[in-house]
Amino acid sequence: MPESRIDFAIQLHTQGYRLTSQRNLILEAVRQAKAHLTPEQVYDRVHRRNPTISRATIYRTLDFLCEMRLIHAMYWGGQMYYEIVGDEPHHHLICRDCGAIEQLDHALLEELIGAVQKQHRFNIDVDHIALFGLCRKCRNNERKPAAR
Ligand SMILES: [Zn+2]
Ligand SMILES: [Zn+2]
Repeated sequence: MPESRIDFAIQLHTQGYRLTSQRNLILEAVRQAKAHLTPEQVYDRVHRRNPTISRATIYRTLDFLCEMRLIHAMYWGGQMYYEIVGDEPHHHLICRDCGAIEQLDHALLEELIGAVQKQHRFNIDVDHIALFGLCRKCRNNERKPAAR
């Protein structure tokens, strides 16, 4: 049994659920992609392995797995994305212009998160934070005078 399957099973079990083969198939599809997937991309990957699972079932299962915190759901640029929750928290810098995604080190955010939690007595979901802005490339483009 792959290690990830045991992890998924344990995490679901502690929340009172079973890792069904369908849930496992969807989790594996998202995990193996090692990327942020749109619902459509998740459907494609799952469908290739098991064409009998309906789109509605896949979307419903994705919602369920997000509730179980096995999968992250993110909404940006008018689109939903899914990604597996890893062992380590990881964060993103997302360019609002070109959509480029960079990984952001957790250590850089730790201090800020600590300060916010203390001042606001607000518990931040710290495993996956997205910060929006302009990437280096787009920033440089913006500085140049508009081409005619
Ligand atoms: Zn991510
Ligand atoms: Zn950009």
